[in-house]
Amino acid sequence: MIRELFINAAIILSFTFIWGQITRDTKVSEMGDFAKKVLLGTACGFLGSLLIFFAIKTTPGVYIDLRTLAPMIAVAYGGFTAGVISGTMIVSTRMIFFGVSTASLAAASNLVLIIMICFCIAKLRINNLKKWILMLALNIAVVIVTIYLLLIRNTASSDSVFPTLLALLTAMIIVGMITYYAVEYILRSNALFLQFKEQSSKDFLTGLNNIRQFDSAMNEYSLRVHNNSEKLSLLLIDIDFFKKVNDTYGHAAGDAVLKQLGTVLTETCRSFDIISRNGGEEFSVLLPDCPHDQALEVAERVRQAVRQYKFVLPDNKVIGISISIGVSTYPDTLSNLQEILHQADGALYKAKRTGRNKVCSIDECIEL
Ligand code: GH3
Ligand code: MG
Ligand code: MG
Repeated sequence: MIRELFINAAIILSFTFIWGQITRDTKVSEMGDFAKKVLLGTACGFLGSLLIFFAIKTTPGVYIDLRTLAPMIAVAYGGFTAGVISGTMIVSTRMIFFGVSTASLAAASNLVLIIMICFCIAKLRINNLKKWILMLALNIAVVIVTIYLLLIRNTASSDSVFPTLLALLTAMIIVGMITYYAVEYILRSNALFLQFKEQSSKDFLTGLNNIRQFDSAMNEYSLRVHNNSEKLSLLLIDIDFFKKVNDTYGHAAGDAVLKQLGTVLTETCRSFDIISRNGGEEFSVLLPDCPHDQALEVAERVRQAVRQYKFVLPDNKVIGISISIGVSTYPDTLSNLQEILHQADGALYKAKRTGRNKVCSIDECIEL
């Protein structure tokens, strides 16, 4: 009996660990709320069903296991939808593989009752640990009473039932609490993992890609350009006389301008362009599948949008700024893709040298 309960506990904990790894995946973490609930419900349904196969077989038709912990996890972390999905799966498995009997009908109504109880407790305004303890206590009460009634029906002496019930009670308390701490630990470490991952690729001030992400996008697109003979354009953007903004209005005002410039760039470019803050007051836009003449048009549109934008400073003062943009395109303006950044930098320098607030490629500038 201890063996089966131990296997049940090991399955629950292994499941929790695997679940943590799956939800750490970017594709899963970016799924919508409903999809996540369906996924958790299905996973818990699978878990509960699996536990039945490792149940203690006592008197005929009565199976003792930790399956009710599965819908509890589903409701606690995925709400009613997840609970109902997991419950339906577990009841179906019980009926299909182990037959319809008084015991299986009692198990099904138990599960419904536990899901309802857990759902009500999840709504309470108490912390997660208290909710879990309450859910676990009521879950145990429902299971123990039902198993007692089922066993006593088939057993002559009630004394022989108590060791089984005691083992189940102990297992549910221990595994229930370990599961809570394991799930909470995994949720916390996944949240931190995603946060660190985001911080390592995003610029903290503007929320745009940072230089590291820009570099890996460049590498990725270089490969794609190479394999599909696509065109690739790059805009390097630098704010004109930005030092003056800092000197006149303060560093916080400068930061506000950088942030708003990030928004203007995002609103002016296409959703799949890669916009980055490469450092300081220098930004870049990588335009996949974009020939040079179109890249110049995009750059000019960006320049005009920034010129017309009213930047609001922390003291509500409104100022205007201008930017200079250098544009280069593979294979239109250069034959070696490795040179794209260098050439855009040269074009930007040209825009600065010839008056600023303008868009230049290496051999021409768009005249205002
Ligand atoms: P130019 O037209 O030649 O580009 O002139 P500029 O003043 O924009 O260029 P310069 O390189 O002389 O100055 C860049 C300024 O950008 C200096 C620095 O204080 C400011 N800067 C760099 N990073 C930040 C930042 O994160 N926040 C703020 N507020 N300012 C920054
Ligand atoms: Mg500048
Ligand atoms: Mg600069």
